[in-house]
Amino acid sequence: MHHLIDKVYLDGEFVTPHGTELFDLHNPATGKVIGQVRLADEVDVEAAVAAAKRALPAWSATSKAERIDALRRLQTAVAAHRDDLLEAVTVEYGAPRRNAFLVDTPAGAFADMIKTLEEFEFTRTIGRATVEMTPVGVAGLITPWNADAFFISDKVATALAAGCTVVCKPSELSATQTQVLTEALHEAGLPQGVLNIITGRGDVVGSALTRHPDVAKISFTGSTATGKVIAREAVGTLKRLTLELGGKSPSIILDDADPEEAVTGALMAGFVNSGQACVAGTRILVPESRQDELLSLIEKKVEEDFRTGDPRDPATAIGPMVSEGQWERVQRYLHRGIEEGARVVVGGPGRPDGLEEGYFVRPTVFADVTNDMTIAREEIFGPVLSVIAYRDEDHAVEIANDTTYGLHAYVFSADLERARNIASRLEVGRVAINGGYEPLSPFGGFKQSGIGREYGVFGLEGFLEPRSVMV
Ligand code: NAD
Repeated sequence: MHHLIDKVYLDGEFVTPHGTELFDLHNPATGKVIGQVRLADEVDVEAAVAAAKRALPAWSATSKAERIDALRRLQTAVAAHRDDLLEAVTVEYGAPRRNAFLVDTPAGAFADMIKTLEEFEFTRTIGRATVEMTPVGVAGLITPWNADAFFISDKVATALAAGCTVVCKPSELSATQTQVLTEALHEAGLPQGVLNIITGRGDVVGSALTRHPDVAKISFTGSTATGKVIAREAVGTLKRLTLELGGKSPSIILDDADPEEAVTGALMAGFVNSGQACVAGTRILVPESRQDELLSLIEKKVEEDFRTGDPRDPATAIGPMVSEGQWERVQRYLHRGIEEGARVVVGGPGRPDGLEEGYFVRPTVFADVTNDMTIAREEIFGPVLSVIAYRDEDHAVEIANDTTYGLHAYVFSADLERARNIASRLEVGRVAINGGYEPLSPFGGFKQSGIGREYGVFGLEGFLEPRSVMV
């Protein structure tokens, strides 16, 4: 497979961008070039924003029923391209076939927003005021490469549901899945200009979008470092911002937890998406008294259940890192952990046996980690977990909260009351107890994991401005 993606999606059509830079796309499982994408530039941003602005009056005036109908067409179109999307995320991103969630969640994002919209009241009464929830305007959506088709779908679904029109800038590293997704979205037949998708560099296209006076809101998912740049650049026009940033999430195993279930749950949370996930549970907090037992279970399960290899092999749980740069970054952290005195329980630096090509790393668990070590503080974005021992519950909560991040946490316990008590003391936007999940619940970060919330009603309100009309 070698392909050239030389079109952007602008004003309802696939057109050649003004930008001329060709960017190489790699298959991370082999390291080989599989194609190129022609990147958009600032001129394309101007055209896309102008198209979205022209489409805004009509789209923002659509009824709830019309928007639900449009979301349903988008959902159907995306679901119909599931196999193409699966191929795209495998070849461009090395996502194991087992991780089918990567290709089912894009259609799911539209389905979830339909549910939210059905229940949502755009007009409320407060005393003598009528509060009208009105679309914020043209929305700029900037997304990362890890599970990009989902992030694009979630943000597009939410913005359109609110009555906003959209200019989306996906990551250049996920141009193949973006192309497949965009072709599907096009089939839904939205009015011209309502949706524009232009792939380009962050510091060119992303930055121009962030500074553009006709863009009312930026919804961004990506690293904390980039989130801070965006916050700075958005100040000039006082743009509304939703920032979904990085994490260093704790998995707290309480002393009454079933060891098998807790260790499996913690490893799944840690190694999700080959460790390339903002929500990855990268710090496993274990009771001192049960540390040895849990560590031997962790070692056994990593070796038995988390096979690294060809993403097409159904037995593979962990695929390659997305790029050579990401591979090198993970290796630096592995060496750093050892230098700072952590002990490798399983894995370590270098390549897994028999995987000499591509960007594969060895799934690694460190023990004897203290929370001040670099590997416990910084987001690694690879399958590298740190086991940290705690004395009692207060100590566990203290370690969990001792981080600049606050995105997610996982708690494992046989006693739900105990687990809930711990959960309410954690400075994070989401806590999963024993693997619990609710897609419509708000998602987002405390502290430097972000600003604002996505999904469900909270996500929708992020694209709306309340207008009070008092009589
Ligand atoms: P990144 O911050 O490097 O890039 C994200 C997007 O921002 C890309 O599209 C990039 O081109 C763009 N960008 C870069 N510089 C920009 C600028 N100056 N102005 C505007 N846009 C710019 O992140 P990444 O490496 O693509 O993704 C990994 C990161 O994303 C991790 O830190 C991860 O935790 C985070 N993430 C967060 C969530 C969440 O929901 N909280 C979800 C997934 C990933």
